[in-house]
Amino acid sequence: MKILVTGGAGYIGSATASELLIAGHQVVVFDNLYQGHRQAVPAGAVFVRGDLARREDIIHLFADHPGIDGIMHFASYTLVGESMQKPLLYLRDNLVNAANLLEVAVGAGVRRFILSSTANLFDDPAKMPIDEYERIVPGSPYGESKFFIERMLHWFGRIYGMRYACLRYFNASGDAPDCGEDHDPETHLIPLILQVALGQREQITLFGDDYPTPDGTCVRDYVHVRDLARAHILAMESLDRLGSRTYNLGNGSGFSVYEVLETARKVTGHPIPHVVGPRRAGDPAILVASSESIRRELGWNPHYPDIESIIQSAWDWHRNHPNGYGA
Ligand code: UDP
Repeated sequence: MKILVTGGAGYIGSATASELLIAGHQVVVFDNLYQGHRQAVPAGAVFVRGDLARREDIIHLFADHPGIDGIMHFASYTLVGESMQKPLLYLRDNLVNAANLLEVAVGAGVRRFILSSTANLFDDPAKMPIDEYERIVPGSPYGESKFFIERMLHWFGRIYGMRYACLRYFNASGDAPDCGEDHDPETHLIPLILQVALGQREQITLFGDDYPTPDGTCVRDYVHVRDLARAHILAMESLDRLGSRTYNLGNGSGFSVYEVLETARKVTGHPIPHVVGPRRAGDPAILVASSESIRRELGWNPHYPDIESIIQSAWDWHRNHPNGYGA
């Protein structure tokens, strides 16, 4: 298939573009390079620089690259914390950009769409691990924006026959030799911890140790970016057979911030000093996924099921790219 990957110069988008090429698909990456890196786009992909905020960019994209069979939509603002400071970047820009993309895609005859959605839809889960029947309570404007895009897809499905999958993933993490996590500014736990191990930061600040969890720090489900990438491909390849679907995606086991820190100390051999700071707005105490449905229906199976192999893969990349893609 010929797949358009929006945000394909970003962390998860570039990993997915790479896996798509390995699986034998053609890839067109569309990215404004606001957060993404040109160097992260795999060599075999066509790269188009453009912005979903400008409809004419999207119109040119589809005109110049006819025959797109499906879209994987990663391009968006993605930070829970930032969304609590700048809600309209999320509640306006993420929605308008997705609407622009969907409008032009439907006009171009595209009827397959995979959405990079989020576990931030589950701020107040009744049971853990969280399955697809859990009540939606977005934890932040970021989560709300993804939920609204899911609803757009629902209506595009009913009205235009769009087939779609919403993949609500938990904490994307880990790296592969050819693509890594490089955000500026970096806000994610594992790369920040590894920056301390590389001597680029003095310490890591843990956001709160008074949560109702066994050690007081937040518990998250860390899932390897390559495993997420393979889930997107399975979802795309099964759309015609199974129709539209929504899946939660994680490893199914939770690790506290302290446990992540301890594992990173073991993997890196560095003491990684830490301090405890206040809670970060928008952070639920525990988020662990049930990925039963996608395992059963699509045969998805993570290749990196444990936190140590995820941190090891991240450490390998960060040691080789101490300045990220700028190295
Ligand atoms: N976290 C932390 N210190 C940091 C960054 C993150 O304690 O400098 C915590 C954060 O509160 C959350 C977990 O680590 O409980 C994972 O956060 P991250 O930003 O990596 O991913 P998110 O859960 O926001 O998707």
